Amino acid sequence: MPNIPTGGHAGLEVIVGSMFSGKSEELIRRVKRAIIARRAVQVFKPAIDDRFGNALVRSHDGDSFVARPVRSSADISRSVEPETSVVGIDEVQFFESGIVDVVRSLVVSGRRVICAGLDLDFRGEPFGWVPLLLALAERVDKLEAICVVCGEAATRTQRIVNGVPAFFDEPIIVIGAQEAYEARCRGCHEVPRRTAVEA
Ligand code: ADP
Ligand code: ZN
Repeated sequence: MPNIPTGGHAGLEVIVGSMFSGKSEELIRRVKRAIIARRAVQVFKPAIDDRFGNALVRSHDGDSFVARPVRSSADISRSVEPETSVVGIDEVQFFESGIVDVVRSLVVSGRRVICAGLDLDFRGEPFGWVPLLLALAERVDKLEAICVVCGEAATRTQRIVNGVPAFFDEPIIVIGAQEAYEARCRGCHEVPRRTAVEA
């Protein structure tokens, strides 16, 4: 990843990719560099993501940074301190539509905003409001993981429920099921019952 200015330049940076592509790692790297540049930094994440406990952004590699869990995009607006010049938002795909205006107004107020999240859901469909954020961003980085099936670059997240690929119309929460996610390339990504163009 090329070096990104550490300073407080206002603007929107969006980091996307499949699961395991290094989005959290890259967000953590950028906020740590901003701290070295003595910028006031705040990082937020949606409270529904309790994968790694509540108060940290943590990469699958183990690196971490303190993050404030928030219930909505309005919570972010309310919580940003006047002196904060860099705002990080992890798992940005989980926020409601309000996230777009919140991010825009943070940038208009002169802040550097760094969003990280999934661009595609487990079906390979654009995820929530992330496509809009990508369009509005000054800088976009689409990271790749490694496909666990063939070893090529992975751009998709494979959802596996009870050991088999999840159906296109599988409920988001399957009670009592064993769930897992894998990084896969387009060719190895399996979505049974997909009726869209990629079926
Ligand atoms: P993301 O936030 O995109 O889910 P993380 O930053 O949490 O990604 O984790 C990235 C790290 O995950 C990599 O540096 C690597 O150590 C580990 N990893 C595990 N499985 C894979 C994979 N299939 N492809 C790439 N990295 C992987
Ligand atoms: Zn593959």
